[in-house]
Amino acid sequence: SDHKLDYPTSPESMDWSKLYPDFGNGDKPVTIADIGCGYGGLLVSLAERFPERKILGMEIRVQVTEYVEERIRALRESHSEIGKFNNCAVIRANSMKFLPNFFKRSQLDKMFFCFPDPHFKQRKHKARIITNTLISEYAYVLKEGGILYTITDVLDLHEWMKKHLDEHPLFERLTPEQEANDECVDIMTNATEEGKKVSRNKGSKYIACYTRLPNPTI
Ligand code: SAM
Repeated sequence: SDHKLDYPTSPESMDWSKLYPDFGNGDKPVTIADIGCGYGGLLVSLAERFPERKILGMEIRVQVTEYVEERIRALRESHSEIGKFNNCAVIRANSMKFLPNFFKRSQLDKMFFCFPDPHFKQRKHKARIITNTLISEYAYVLKEGGILYTITDVLDLHEWMKKHLDEHPLFERLTPEQEANDECVDIMTNATEEGKKVSRNKGSKYIACYTRLPNPTI
């Protein structure tokens, strides 16, 4: 439960250097977050694709987080002479609760929600990771023009995420062309462990990506 979760009291109090000890550009903030990163397939693919960016996976399960830590440690070690994978890290966190403790306003420019837990039952819907309240938090940590990516194999959850994001004044869906041309859509479709499982089972993948709109002027 939460009292066992370590989280900073504010983004300023977070010691990022522990997570990215050998990343040259130490002061650069994290700009890409993989929420509920699972076993880290997307994380490491994004790390290769965006070697200059700091990427963070957040995962609530202890053992899964430890697995990803180990995975990153091994990748760093086997690529130590070229310094690859120093730009990705994972933390154990409940991202439904403490996101603004980790990230400043407008800090992120990409957030990924890949195959989130569907919470099928009606009474469990409030446990979903896309809700009105949480979307406002995502809007807070995402910068203008930043992108929130969602993918799921559960049609009902896809409709749910779309409905809530469509209704939110600070998000606008990318056009089909924009989604098709965004290389991160391709990466998230194929790189996560859950996505690979869905492919093996010949399941469908539903994608919806949204850009963070400017705050309205009053
Ligand atoms: N994104 C990964 C993938 O596509 O392979 C994992 C998908 S898995 C179905 C959902 C993951 O989200 C699980 O690993 C779960 O532990 C994690 N999760 C669920 N609620 C979370 C929360 N509140 N904060 C962080 N992670 C969470």
